Amino acid sequence: MKPNVYVAECELGKGLFAAKDFKKGEYILTFEGTLISFEQTAKGEYEGNPLQIDYNAYIDLQDPCRSANHSCSPNSGIIKSNVLIAIKDIFKDEEIRFDYSTTMSENNWTMVCRCGSKKCRGIIKDFHLLPKDVQKQYLKLGIVQEFIVREIGQMSKASKQGGLRPSKILAKT
Ligand SMILES: [Zn+2]
Repeated sequence: MKPNVYVAECELGKGLFAAKDFKKGEYILTFEGTLISFEQTAKGEYEGNPLQIDYNAYIDLQDPCRSANHSCSPNSGIIKSNVLIAIKDIFKDEEIRFDYSTTMSENNWTMVCRCGSKKCRGIIKDFHLLPKDVQKQYLKLGIVQEFIVREIGQMSKASKQGGLRPSKILAKT
């Protein structure tokens, strides 16, 4: 079977590229690797973009997955924790990027963004810090990690009841 993707140079270093055309909604790849904890990611032993899939669970990505870059105007997104799908039609040899914020809720990590998109947010942060319209758009597409969808639900419920900071929600789980 021919691979769906390949790794090549891009303006940010390495990037993930389409080896064929993808229609919107089509399967691209599954992110795989060893499961690691937050402490392990924080030690800096895992330079290659560990993918957050739960509060204290990350996949230590291997190639080619670890080369997937962030975009504030992504053409792909993650469903079912670790399955990358196209959210737009993607053409062969186009770079494939997803929005890192759709997988992030750790009150720790930020990254200066150089994605070059007109809609670039400048700094990449946790999902709950995204502008509300961007959150809505991603939730509608179904490309936000399950644990974050649950957290957002708890936060909006809590804000109606007079407010609860996300760190308290974290501590409860
Ligand atoms: Zn950006």
